Amino acid sequence: MYISHYDVRLFYKCPTLLYLNLHGPQDAKQIHPIIQRRKRYTRNSFLDSINVEQETQKTISQMEKAKKSINQCLISTNNLVAKVDRLNKVDNNSNLGSYSYRASFARNTLTPKKPLLMEGVFVSYILQKILNTEIKEFYVQKQNDIQSINIAEYFADFENDLVLIDEIIRGEKEISPNYVRTCRVCEWRFYCKKTAAESSDLTLISGIGGRIKKKLITLGIEDVPSLAQVDLNSLPKDLTNNADFDFFVKQAKSLTTKEAIVRESIKFPKNRIELFVDLEGSSHHNFVWIIGCLMRKEGEVDYISFLANTPKEEKEMVVSFSDFISDLGDDFTLYHWSSAEPQYFKNLFTKYSLPFKMLNKLHHNSFDLFPIFKRKIILPLFTYTLKDVANFLGFQWHDPLADGATSIVLFDKWYLEKDKKSLQKAISYNSDDCKALLIIKDYLSKKLSAD
Ligand code: SF4
Repeated sequence: MYISHYDVRLFYKCPTLLYLNLHGPQDAKQIHPIIQRRKRYTRNSFLDSINVEQETQKTISQMEKAKKSINQCLISTNNLVAKVDRLNKVDNNSNLGSYSYRASFARNTLTPKKPLLMEGVFVSYILQKILNTEIKEFYVQKQNDIQSINIAEYFADFENDLVLIDEIIRGEKEISPNYVRTCRVCEWRFYCKKTAAESSDLTLISGIGGRIKKKLITLGIEDVPSLAQVDLNSLPKDLTNNADFDFFVKQAKSLTTKEAIVRESIKFPKNRIELFVDLEGSSHHNFVWIIGCLMRKEGEVDYISFLANTPKEEKEMVVSFSDFISDLGDDFTLYHWSSAEPQYFKNLFTKYSLPFKMLNKLHHNSFDLFPIFKRKIILPLFTYTLKDVANFLGFQWHDPLADGATSIVLFDKWYLEKDKKSLQKAISYNSDDCKALLIIKDYLSKKLSAD
């Protein structure tokens, strides 16, 4: 059975992903709405569309003719096969004579992450076998810039990994999931979360990835309940110095007892007006299409939305919002979730040369609710998204399946196809986000208020 560059890339992205794509229950897959719009490229669509031997022979004959560069070609040896963006001729002895070839990949970054790095190692490994020479680098090209990537140190471990990849492809080795941050947009996220929850996997704890999990297992701490029992002083210092183990153990306790754990109290601003604000951007033309704002004043709650149906309307939307803030005076607090909102405001005010005085006022009166979680209070949750936290507190979105990505897709349907229902749904989703902020703020002030 072939091992392709596609398998290698997937393996280094996540070995479970490689396993599940080939042998997992396909009906458990749920493609993320954002990813669904991209062209799907699979191992089978690559291998089915080519004759490996013929294509490899074509590449070798071009090499034998000493072509300066060979574009979009295929190379293979034994059961290893890879597509390469370009092979560049270099001065270096090989079985071709006084020259050899190096692989080059066109990418939008010059500093490749592990999957692309290892794809480069894989391709170079095949080239070494074909050309019978030592290869220590490959190239990444971004427009006119080229970066040489040194890979000599990777080959030893890579050969062991190839054995594992082969076993996974054959279905002889199943890899249990490490449920980490990047899983959130993976098509197997629900399946893996459920599988990890069933085994109380350590990676369910936010911040514990494959590396820490491995170390904990060597210490006999194999799952969440056993981590909940750990005495922090019994752990090696080199482990605890580099990560917040006080949080990990408390998080494990919270998950085991299903109780919230307060770490520290805080002071909330005492302004007369509270704004719960959420912005959403469009995936087209890079513009913000809504500033949603739930206002609470003297017990009354109102949802106000500032909209831009097109990029041209964005300035008008920001100006209206800025005027609205100006009319409030100084007696308000703007609650939001994560650092995205302040960054959006900064970008918008800069883009339209709006007064910095107003931007400073917004920043001065803003309060981010997100960092309070984990630092000041721990909930029995695996992840701390706005939705996870608000759902835990009993709040439900009108559409329980919708998330931030769905909202982008809904707005796009309005923007591209003028589907009014989609716009209404996207606004309703934004309004639910703002309500969720209010629920969370009230919960936190009850649980954590220092006064
Ligand atoms: S959800 Fe996470 S662990 Fe599961 S296959 Fe996807 S990336 Fe891997």
